[in-house]
Amino acid sequence: MPGSTTGSATWFDLRRRTTIYPPEPAGRPGVCAVCRGPARPGFARCYQCAQHDLLGLGLLADVVVPISYAVKGTAFATGLWRYKSWRSPDPAARACLLALLLSFLHDHGRCVWRHAGMPAPGRLAVVPTGCGRPGPHPLLEMAGPYLRLPVTGLVIRPGEQGRDPNPDRFTSERAGLGASVLLLDDSWVSGASAQSAAAALKRAGARHVAVVVLGRHVDPADRLSAPLAARLVPRGYDPDRCAVHRARP
Ligand SMILES: [Zn+2]
Ligand SMILES: [Zn+2]
Repeated sequence: MPGSTTGSATWFDLRRRTTIYPPEPAGRPGVCAVCRGPARPGFARCYQCAQHDLLGLGLLADVVVPISYAVKGTAFATGLWRYKSWRSPDPAARACLLALLLSFLHDHGRCVWRHAGMPAPGRLAVVPTGCGRPGPHPLLEMAGPYLRLPVTGLVIRPGEQGRDPNPDRFTSERAGLGASVLLLDDSWVSGASAQSAAAALKRAGARHVAVVVLGRHVDPADRLSAPLAARLVPRGYDPDRCAVHRARP
């Protein structure tokens, strides 16, 4: 995990780099308890997260924690796309997203592990991109050297691309029997990729999988998402608040 020996001034500087759209609390009506996306009135989860049960409850991620919403059309959402542009990755977007991810894991990693009921992760994995681009995932390339966790590789199984949750979509390297895995993703749209990746890790031996997502996609033009999008406001990253934060007793 990011080193506690690093000076507090450095953390202060890193935290100030990005403006985010903080996730709404899980218990709020109309907010999915899993991914914090829009849920239909009277439902605890969004349609897609309910669909993920098809993967088998024991194979789903133990927790899903979005760091921010990615509201379509905003600079934050654009950065999530630009940072991994194949031809010309945006260095400014990379720097901002890396600072945000490292700050978040430094400040709220323990919130995530506690909420998942797991020890601090011993392994790191990244949800592969849908396009099957060659080389390491940009998120792994950026954050891996700082997180200093052994990596469990995930690859798309040929012919299994798709949008539905599918425990066969990815093959996972051995995760280590009983391992706790931090699974990173840049964007959560339906969550099918991340949950399929969690399922692959669990089938490869992982006991716990905690998903941390940079941006939970929200499209203001979508009828169901519009009320949520309308009340989201950009804020500076807050070291005292996250999607699963609890005030310490
Ligand atoms: Zn959901
Ligand atoms: Zn927290």
